[in-house]
Formats: sequence, C-alpha cells, structure tokens
Amino acid sequence: MRRKLVIGNWKMNGNRAANTALLSGIVAGLNDFGADSAVCVPSPYLAQCQAELEGTELAWGGQDLSVHASGAYTGEVAAAMLRDFGATYVLCGHSERRAYHQESNALVAQKAVVALAAGLTPVVCVGESLAQREAGQTEDVICAQLQAVLDALQVEQVASIVLAYEPVWAIGTGKTATPQIAQDAHRFLRNCLANKNAAAAATVQILYGGSMKPENAKELMAQPDIDGGLIGGAALKATDFLGIIQAV
Ligand code: 13P
Repeated sequence: MRRKLVIGNWKMNGNRAANTALLSGIVAGLNDFGADSAVCVPSPYLAQCQAELEGTELAWGGQDLSVHASGAYTGEVAAAMLRDFGATYVLCGHSERRAYHQESNALVAQKAVVALAAGLTPVVCVGESLAQREAGQTEDVICAQLQAVLDALQVEQVASIVLAYEPVWAIGTGKTATPQIAQDAHRFLRNCLANKNAAAAATVQILYGGSMKPENAKELMAQPDIDGGLIGGAALKATDFLGIIQAV
C-alpha cells in the first residue's frame, strides 16, 4: 500500500516571521494522520526550515535546482546546496518553471537525474494546459513529459521519484479537476511508469495538484491512484494545510 504524501509548494511567498508562524502552526497540528508531509520553500528559507523543522515530522525541500554541480551559473541553486540545508525533496518541472523559464522536457529530466544523484527525491511535475485538454492532447502531453524523465533514469531509479499531476488549468484557478478526471490521468501515468518498471509503478506516489483544499481533498485522495497532494494556495495557511493532511 502506498503511503499518502502531502507537499506544500509555497511558490514565491513568505517571510521569516510569517514562515515561523506557519511552520509552527503546522507542526503543532501534525498528528498520526497516516500521511507524510513536506513544504517546498523559496531557497533563502531552507536554513530557516532546517533550524525550525529538524526533529519534526515535517520534511522540507526546494522548488527547483540547477543541473550543474557548481560554477558560473548566476542565480542558480545546486542540488548539493539543497542537501546542505537538509532538504529531502525538490520540485522538478513545475508548470510555472516550464511556462516562465522555458524549461523543456529534456531539461526537467536532467534535473530529476541530478536530484537523485544528490540524494534528493525529485517531485516530477507534469500537466496539460486548458488548450491542450480541449484539443484532446492530455495523454500525449503528460506522457511526453513523463517519458523524457523515464528515458533519462536507470530502470531501478524509477522507484525513487515522486510524480505530481498538475493540470495547468486547475492551478490557482479554483477549478479543481474532478476526482474522475484526476484519477484517469493518474491511472494513465501509472501505466506509463509500468512500461519502464512495473514493480516501481505500484509503489511510486502520484500526487494531484491544482486548487486542492480541505473541502475537496478527501474525495480526490480516495481515488485509487491518487496518493496525495501538491498544494499551492492552501499550503500558506496552517489550518488549510493540516485540513488536507487530515483528509487522508
Ligand atoms: P494551487 O493549489 O494554488 O492551485 O497550486 C497548485 C500548485 O501549483 C502546486 O504546485
């Protein structure tokens, strides 16, 4: 049985004081809800997470990483730097990186490889735009996004990734995918995983992201192939984030 996982993606939000309140609020409310939880924070706040979360049940991670180990790459953050501050997860290929920073499927795949090599768990994000869904291209798009990563990984590495299905039209819009739409995409992605490594396909956690909130989390996470959530807006309030974890 796959364990549920709920990850908060803070995106470019937060400040030291607000973070302390949010993190302590989450940690205080965490209980044995049967799910793992983590926050992916802006890089400047990794040190704060390390200082305030070490020894708690809440893990932390980055939102992006460089494919380079070190050197003249102004503004970039290396996998080893994330590890240096205790990160365990890193998002790879979030749709906002793909859209605003022109991240290609090939680059995202490279990032996943680099993350794994550094001992980080890459949370590989895939998802179609509204235009792509309306054109009937959903499966082609998310398959191509995932396949690039699978092609870059060794067969045995497939078990070490987390996958997130985030339909772009559902992100920050309040338009959640219906549980059936999400389940269909998750099942499809699991089948794609199985083509590379059948055993890993049964264990890889596939998270849903896109306007997940306490009110809709239960029904989404009750779907057989939905193993948790990647939460944006609702991860910025301790009660909402906890409400989603509790919905497991
Ligand atoms: P929202 O939960 O704000 O829709 O964001 C989802 C997301 O992009 C998480 O990575």
